[in-house]
Amino acid sequence: MRATLLHGAGDIRVSTVPDPTLRDPTDALVRVTHSCICGSDLWPYKSAPEAAEGRRIGHEFLGVVEAVGSEVAKIAPGDRVIAPFMYSDGTCTHCRNGWPTSCIAGGFWGGDDKFGRLVDGGQGEYVRAPLADGTLVRVPQETGPELAPALLALSDVMGTGHHAAVMARVRPGATVAVVGDGAVGLCGVLAAHRLGAARIIALSPHDDRWRLAEQFGATDRVEVRDSAEAAAQVRDLTAGIGVDSALECVGSRQALETAIAVARPGGAIGYVGAPQDLVELRASVPLRAMFERNLTLSGGLAPARAYLPDLLPDVLAGSLDPGPVFDLTLPLASAADGYRAMAERTAVKVLLTP
Ligand SMILES: [Zn+2]
Repeated sequence: MRATLLHGAGDIRVSTVPDPTLRDPTDALVRVTHSCICGSDLWPYKSAPEAAEGRRIGHEFLGVVEAVGSEVAKIAPGDRVIAPFMYSDGTCTHCRNGWPTSCIAGGFWGGDDKFGRLVDGGQGEYVRAPLADGTLVRVPQETGPELAPALLALSDVMGTGHHAAVMARVRPGATVAVVGDGAVGLCGVLAAHRLGAARIIALSPHDDRWRLAEQFGATDRVEVRDSAEAAAQVRDLTAGIGVDSALECVGSRQALETAIAVARPGGAIGYVGAPQDLVELRASVPLRAMFERNLTLSGGLAPARAYLPDLLPDVLAGSLDPGPVFDLTLPLASAADGYRAMAERTAVKVLLTP
């Protein structure tokens, strides 16, 4: 089969690799029909050391189940499935507590499983999906091709934006600020709107992304994303009070500081941007100011699998549509062009078809 391989910084190739097969009785073999490139794929894309053999990449995909192992009970050949961005068994303590991203038996697509065997990346033609019953979510009804982008967004960005809103305790009537206008920030706007926020201030410097934010429910725009100036503008928009809920959807020191600065006393910050500089970020949590203003800081790696049963029915009903975050669709063979477009910010998020 063909799969996307990262050979080093800026070096993406689509090559022929061995066809995956069932290895464990809990595996499913999935034919990928849609995958996509994540903002978090850009970090290895920009910084990975040279690797002659290349390494698999991609962790968001939709597909059709081709075969299942003897112990798979909930998924059958022919099922259309959504794969969340990590695999998990759904049965361990952490999964049952709602944190499948911390699953004891789980892991990431494109790396080795706990026995050192490759688990395919999502940006390829086929994937061996471990722990299929816990990991994959069946799409329970026929849907047209126009719904595929929205379903694909549930594998990561929509669940992650929703996590930011949940962690920031967005309630009906809330005033919300969303720091970041990438795909996750845009999904954060959509999630806050879905949870009933009355006012959503998007910190969005890019005109095209602001238009999408507005379509997703944003009511106010601040044209600078993360700085003291952005925080001052949010405070001006809220009569100096600040927002009930601040969603940090970038992962930088400045974005976190901005989110903390714009929260009102007693407010909450939900952070879901993958931290890009841990040393800087540790130094950037202003604990004294947070103590004085009784701020809650909550968030982390989104348990996308745990949110799927809540979000999927809304997508199927047509009341939730994160699909427009995909603004470029390319064939898998052109994955390198997709990475370039996202790195150069000419595309928000790229969808790949086989
Ligand atoms: Zn688990």
